[in-house]
Amino acid sequence: MLEPVPSYTGRLAPSPTGRLHLGHARTFWIAAERARQSGGRLLLRMDNLDRDRCRDEYAQAALSDLAWLGLHWEAPVIVQSTRIARYRQALAQLHAAGFIFPCERSRRDVREAAGAPHEDDEEPIYPREFRPPAAAKGPPLGDVIHTNWRFRVPDGETLAFNDALVGPQSAEAGCDFGDFLVWRKDDLPSYQLASVVDDIDFGITEVVRGADLIRSTFRQLLLFHALGAPAPTFAHCALMRDESGRRLAKRHDALSLQTLRDQGVTPVDITAKFSAQS
Ligand code: GLU
Repeated sequence: MLEPVPSYTGRLAPSPTGRLHLGHARTFWIAAERARQSGGRLLLRMDNLDRDRCRDEYAQAALSDLAWLGLHWEAPVIVQSTRIARYRQALAQLHAAGFIFPCERSRRDVREAAGAPHEDDEEPIYPREFRPPAAAKGPPLGDVIHTNWRFRVPDGETLAFNDALVGPQSAEAGCDFGDFLVWRKDDLPSYQLASVVDDIDFGITEVVRGADLIRSTFRQLLLFHALGAPAPTFAHCALMRDESGRRLAKRHDALSLQTLRDQGVTPVDITAKFSAQS
């Protein structure tokens, strides 16, 4: 049992890029349980910024699957695609304070110059030789953005946090992760920036999400600091794997909640397993 924390505010943050599977269900169930046991609030945020991969039907399906599972969250749902102007304000704040620089390099340039990324993270470390000198005053942002903007990480600084589920974590900026995207050349915020701005604006006190995002948490700690806001605490849930040890992904249709629902599996069958594991 967690100590009741009256001000606890948590959030569920599905990405509507496919049907939710058992791994998502487990993470979201843990998030809901932690909010419930703390006597706190639980919000739901739809991470629908990726125009190529997100679909409304998946967003509707995610809400339906989570409600079916018995999870409750407070209305209204926070929809990231409606908050672009607010993210843009945060970007201007980072720009004015000199935290970011424009980057004309393609993903491919970065990948080729950087070598292999860490296995738990898709983003290669941004090569230092691509970075403008720290003193260089960058160009203005402009009304419409056609270039990627990156956050300049403080090389050599150690970032640390004490995860409520996986214990103490630390990473060195510039070594374990590099300069990361905050705004994309298709004029949309990156996941890192949008997530932090939402967590600040909605007063999130604890972020519960999959362990695949631990490395992103270090980037996000830098963003909370740069935006002058206290960081929440974090609880990263172990990822679920299939029989061959591969991380569950949206391609695992057999384990999608829709398939399980169609087969007559009940929410209690699923959540009873989660409680036994936690
Ligand atoms: N939308 C992300 C996901 O589905 C989670 C992001 C977050 O919790 O910060 O993996």
